[in-house]
Amino acid sequence: MSATFLGMPGSFPENSREAVQNSQLRFNLRKATHTIRDKRASVVGELPDWQELRAAGKAIKDHTLRNLDRYLIQLEAAVTEAGGTVHWARDAAEANRIVTDLVKATGETEVVKVKSMATQEIELNQALAEHGITAYETDLAELIVQLGDDFPSHILVPAIHRNRSEIREIFLDKMPHVSADLTDDPPALTEAARLHLRERFLRSKVAISGANFMVAETGTLVVLESEGNGRMCLTLPETLISVVGIEKLLPSWRDLEVFLQLLPRSSTGERMNPYTSMWTGAVEGQEFHLVLLDNGRTDVLADEVGRQALRCIRCSACLNVCPVYERAGGHAYGSVYPGPIGAILTPQLRGMSSELDASLPFASSLCGACYEACPVAIDIPEVLVDLRAKAPHAAAEKAGMKVAGWILNDHERLARAQRAATRVRKLVPKRLPGPLSAWTDTRDLPEIPEESFRDWWERNERA
Ligand code: SF4
Repeated sequence: MSATFLGMPGSFPENSREAVQNSQLRFNLRKATHTIRDKRASVVGELPDWQELRAAGKAIKDHTLRNLDRYLIQLEAAVTEAGGTVHWARDAAEANRIVTDLVKATGETEVVKVKSMATQEIELNQALAEHGITAYETDLAELIVQLGDDFPSHILVPAIHRNRSEIREIFLDKMPHVSADLTDDPPALTEAARLHLRERFLRSKVAISGANFMVAETGTLVVLESEGNGRMCLTLPETLISVVGIEKLLPSWRDLEVFLQLLPRSSTGERMNPYTSMWTGAVEGQEFHLVLLDNGRTDVLADEVGRQALRCIRCSACLNVCPVYERAGGHAYGSVYPGPIGAILTPQLRGMSSELDASLPFASSLCGACYEACPVAIDIPEVLVDLRAKAPHAAAEKAGMKVAGWILNDHERLARAQRAATRVRKLVPKRLPGPLSAWTDTRDLPEIPEESFRDWWERNERA
């Protein structure tokens, strides 16, 4: 059972301290993220209309979010018409209870799972385990995380922090039938995972998935994946339960076409992903349940600046270009959503009452690379700045900002303050004292010049 992020102590800077000193981890992350980002750049560069596609993706998502109530009702009607059952879940507890009851009703104690961020967000595996139900992750990277009792650290490649020899150790330790002479060759590791999983695919009667998209006009769900494990989970078991965030909706198949171009290129750097599974309702002899998950999303929707985070299609392109993620790794974010999207989504979904969640909007240099890479043009820096203003601040910092604002608001006041600062420049310490030290703990105070630019300009103009 993989570990849980909830209640993780410490702020982002504290959590990332160890990671930035781990040169092996930094090497692994750099190699992996640069490989994916180069592949992405190459396939994106093939499309002369990439920016138009990106604008279309943004417009479709914005339109859908503005009319979410209408499209959700349309989706529910279409799924029901096609033989599925729709359940509405306000929060994680309600979603977990619905899924647990559905599994219990089948009499099964094991389920197979397709990689799903929504089920990780609500910590479904832990909830099922409390009721004696074992959930088996079938995506290779998720399986590595689960067997290693570990946290995911990347949206697309959750075990990105593990190297081959670590994966071999985990397999030897946790897979009962694996041979002791297993090597750390990727084909050998993949074969071991395949044999381990096949037996579970064949005996499982219940599968749990998420979905990349839901098409309102027909009630169709769509999963994109690379390994074929999703296809097995979605077709073999008798009961399929899909837990999907309400923002994953698209009005029509015509809209889906745009996203089937945007997502594979932005995530795995492929023109098309190897497996695209689509299903509508249930066929005879099988049951399909769709659990529509809110869990804070309608609150995000109510925020004029922050709501753009709901456009996210979880491609992870923003993680792969982020200089902070590349050095700190995914665990420091304390959430299933790491990197730039995590820094704006987690504080909005969970609020900023914990030290960790309040520190996330500051886990960025605001370089803007995430915005450039995002296929649905989420202005992550804009949301970060907005969240920084809303985050709780120490009284000393608030007072300091108030004084700075008062000075900067008036050019004569600023000129007087600059002159005063040049007079006492030799007395200014390198580190600020008392509560103000939080500012200089991670920054150098700039040197105060002998003369301000204004005074220099005035002197030279007069000369
Ligand atoms: S914010 Fe944009 S780039 Fe990042 S995961 Fe979401 S869609 Fe992809």
